[in-house]
Amino acid sequence: MKRLKKLHDVGVALIAILATNATPLWATHVEAAQIGNRDTRVTIRFGSSAPQVTQLSSTSITGWTGNDATTLIDHITIDGKDRPLHWHFNRTASRLRGDAMDAVYENDVPKLRLTWSWRTRAMHGPLEHTIRIQNLTGRTITLPLQDSFRFRWHVPASRSLQQLWIDKGAGEAPPVGTHLVDVGEGYRWLGTSSTYAHPRKGEPREIIPYMLVRSPGDDATDGWYVGMEFSGRVAMRVQRRGDVLEGGAGLNPEPGPFETRLLSGESFVTPTVFLGATHGSVDDAGNALRRWVREVLNDPRHVADPHYPLLVNNSWGSGMAVDAAQAHRMIIDSAALGFEMFHLDAGWFRGVGDWVPDPRKFPQGLVTIADDAHRHGLKFGLWIDWAQAGNSMQPASMSVLHAATRDWLVTDPPPGWKPGEFKGITIDIGQSDAKAWVSKEVERLVHDDHLDMLEHDGYVVAQGCDRADHPHATCDPKLVHHYEDEGFRWADGPNSTDVSYHAARAYYDIYRTLKKAHPDLLLEICNDGGRMVDFGSAAVGDYFSIVDSYDPLSNRQAFYDASHVLPSAMLETYVKQWPTPRIENFRTMLRSGMMGWFTLMLDTTRWTSAQRDDAMEELRVYKSTLRPLIRNADLYHVGPRPDGKGWDGTEYVDAASGTGVLYAFHGSNGKEISHRFVLKGLQPLRRYRLHFHDGSAADVVETGDALSRTGVVVRLPVPESSELVMLSTVHD
Ligand SMILES: [Zn+2]
Repeated sequence: MKRLKKLHDVGVALIAILATNATPLWATHVEAAQIGNRDTRVTIRFGSSAPQVTQLSSTSITGWTGNDATTLIDHITIDGKDRPLHWHFNRTASRLRGDAMDAVYENDVPKLRLTWSWRTRAMHGPLEHTIRIQNLTGRTITLPLQDSFRFRWHVPASRSLQQLWIDKGAGEAPPVGTHLVDVGEGYRWLGTSSTYAHPRKGEPREIIPYMLVRSPGDDATDGWYVGMEFSGRVAMRVQRRGDVLEGGAGLNPEPGPFETRLLSGESFVTPTVFLGATHGSVDDAGNALRRWVREVLNDPRHVADPHYPLLVNNSWGSGMAVDAAQAHRMIIDSAALGFEMFHLDAGWFRGVGDWVPDPRKFPQGLVTIADDAHRHGLKFGLWIDWAQAGNSMQPASMSVLHAATRDWLVTDPPPGWKPGEFKGITIDIGQSDAKAWVSKEVERLVHDDHLDMLEHDGYVVAQGCDRADHPHATCDPKLVHHYEDEGFRWADGPNSTDVSYHAARAYYDIYRTLKKAHPDLLLEICNDGGRMVDFGSAAVGDYFSIVDSYDPLSNRQAFYDASHVLPSAMLETYVKQWPTPRIENFRTMLRSGMMGWFTLMLDTTRWTSAQRDDAMEELRVYKSTLRPLIRNADLYHVGPRPDGKGWDGTEYVDAASGTGVLYAFHGSNGKEISHRFVLKGLQPLRRYRLHFHDGSAADVVETGDALSRTGVVVRLPVPESSELVMLSTVHD
């Protein structure tokens, strides 16, 4: 076992009871065990009727203790009748090795097997936890909701605590975005995430499914976090009462009652949660998590590629009007400016569900566009809304008019229904024939059109469906709420969470299969922009559109938020046309999208020669200096969340090389012409050279200690301007 060996090599197998791979652990009658890595350990007690996490700790803290949190489901339903369950520990079937633990509990009649698993997939960061329930009854059964994880820590009522959570960017960057609030007596919090965030004014936003609880303070404080690797409808809860802090994470029970159906032999698997202990600042916790996501969840092939994240020029600046001539012009200009991918957005196809090039716009098809891009040294990416049905008469299309596939739709369209320009009615890919069709369709597009990148947009993973013959649970049709929002037809009902559970799993299968066949393929998760940002899609996709507004402020706000928990390289901001009377404004527009994955979507052929020169320099600096930091360095939020008026800033520091950068942004307030940024992550005794890329000040040399105490002053008299302050180590 490779990872176990790695752990042993460095002497950090923090396992209380060691067993070889194949040995049943509990020959020794142990009642508790620890599993963990350098950052996180959990202590587990194997109760006779349920397992429990009794402590979450790290090497530096004693941690969080409790003992009565885990609840296993206590009944199932067979033929409409409730059958109580009495779980008992099967010691012989359970396993423990250095990096993995499976505790098996069984119910004799009806026969069920539950495997309660923990995994350590890296030396640092969180551990993963999953529960699998297998139906061994020989009949179809119905399960109630099994939470992924529950906690009940005993915390003195006098201890101050705070909670951090992050909103998704969705259509417009949220008003708060990054929440850090006190957790006092009587505190109650609920965070939800789904396959498609549709925020309504004044209501809580969907979260990136993650939360951190910590002691207040800038540094050296203890905390822990939990996140969910799932794109379906999930919920996380926290409440505090007396000396108890409790809550959980799992599929969203609302709207309920939740149930899921298992055929004989099938298994229900809870969405995987990750659980970690932290010590330090909010940014320290974020840096540890980002490193773990890169190491464990991301595609290692792209993480290792020095060109990831790529510089992209996208056609959406012209909207649906794009055609072959324009694509060719964009390819020529993209190559001349230093871009690395040409991304053809919506507008290329015949119609929604009819994913064939429009012959009036692309008479030679798309493969000639792809080959044109490749000849110019660019990769080629393509937009598609692959889960949307339209009303095409073409036999191979996904259309509401085809009787054979009509049942795949999440709901029937109303009479006279017509699709939008690029949105239709969602098909439920949790239905196996629909899933097979999508698999074939994306394979055809990637193969035939020589794609290097596939972007999925629109709404791909159903979270509501009124069909009675799909694998998900069904519900009374009278309880299904049908409506239109964001151009889609929705069918929300009591079974919505189970619909999303099946569809999300199908989505992962489709993309894993596609990646296997095309290992170099990049997958962009757009989903109407910023609406499907989670750790489940982070494990199959390579980057996210994090917000669907593209002005500099929205881009910086969404980046500020999401960069607390996800690797910067994955965080894509689209940069659109914006008023840039001065070259400083133009540069700020570009840089506001250059802290992570940069995608431009405006007509570069209209740029003045000064703008062209400037853009070429920005792209050059991105490749030579910024990208290596975005890929690997630690990130610190050294300014307040951007508000467009005052100053904001982001700092990257690569501790190994002693290099870094401060992105300094000055908002619209013309009076505050300078700002002091206190830097973080520097070594106190090391001396750093600060080079102001635009020449707003002369180079200075300071110790890390001075920069962490008094900081660096950036002076920018022009409103809506910016500076890149490059940090390098001075070697004496
Ligand atoms: Zn369905």
